[in-house]
Amino acid sequence: MNHAIRIHENGGPEKMLWEEVPVPAPKPGEALIRHQAVGLNYIDVYFRTGLYKAPSMPATIGMEAAGMVEAVGDGVTEVAVGDRVAYATGPIGAYAERRTLKADRLVKLPDALSYEQGAAMMLQGMTAQYLIRRTYPVKKGETILLHAAAGGVGLILCQWAASLGATVIGVVGTEAKAELARAHGAAHIILSGEDIPARVKAITGGAMVPVVYDSVGKDTFIPSLDSLAPLGMMVSYGNASGPVPPVDIGILAAKGSLFLTRPTLATYTAKREDLVASAEDLFQAVTSGAVKLQINQHFPLKDAAEAHRALEARQTTGSTVLLP
Ligand code: NDP
Repeated sequence: MNHAIRIHENGGPEKMLWEEVPVPAPKPGEALIRHQAVGLNYIDVYFRTGLYKAPSMPATIGMEAAGMVEAVGDGVTEVAVGDRVAYATGPIGAYAERRTLKADRLVKLPDALSYEQGAAMMLQGMTAQYLIRRTYPVKKGETILLHAAAGGVGLILCQWAASLGATVIGVVGTEAKAELARAHGAAHIILSGEDIPARVKAITGGAMVPVVYDSVGKDTFIPSLDSLAPLGMMVSYGNASGPVPPVDIGILAAKGSLFLTRPTLATYTAKREDLVASAEDLFQAVTSGAVKLQINQHFPLKDAAEAHRALEARQTTGSTVLLP
């Protein structure tokens, strides 16, 4: 038997149903994976609510998991039966005991990393990787600003940027999250109710920051722009508070010839060589100890709705895994 969490329509967590589904057979180029751990990500909320559209209904949401290859279709060269693998890109469908996926979206999990680590780190960690290595390569000695610093992507970004020699200013919602972010590399903390640009000005002695990594979206867009130095880069990569409304690009001129990008992991890993390079850089960061994964919540996969409630209520820190 095979089970999956499916939605038949968009809505709240109560729309997520634990249902029996057939075991899929891998088509040419695909692998069948038996999941050992599934990653929880904010993007799963967007697919559940309908902010991002599922290709059809009923839909199994979820982007990320780790497990063992049980079967492969014709022509698969990237993985073999019995391999330990993880993935975070490709179509939705991860909230399942087993699923099929194009084999070229899979990476082999190093022996040093557990399935839980694989499921916790691939999406959030490869996101952190492209943000600080490729979108705006962080340099030693720079001071950077990042939002949701105690969250999944946030705690990885804090540690990784600090290990590159940057000074991290992290924005968080509570004192407890402030403590956690500080323990993972944030040199300065701003609480989300505070005047963010004013605090950045005080911390940087008026210089402001060359880059902001903003995953909160609507609520923080303007304060983020106002925290940038002239020619600074606004990286708006998420919508936790809602999508940013349409922008008059004149605002970028008025605030100092700023750059604005809205990147996605899908673009940065579309080519297999980029996917593998990003994953390898991440595995190196984790196995070297530069980034210590914080898997702070576990839920049975069948109770994924509870995990969504906690994530949306800002009750989680670090990463969360769902166990089939
Ligand atoms: P997080 O663990 O960061 O959880 C979201 C956090 O956002 C909350 O804990 C909360 O932290 C903060 N937040 C601020 N305002 C709100 C709000 N109104 N409602 C809910 N949360 C809020 O999630 P992930 O690590 O999974 O993802 C972080 C962000 O990165 C998401 O926006 C996601 O969409 C984005 N993302 C983008 C990718 C891309 O390629 N573009 C890829 C991966 C993730 P606090 O209480 O401290 O404010």
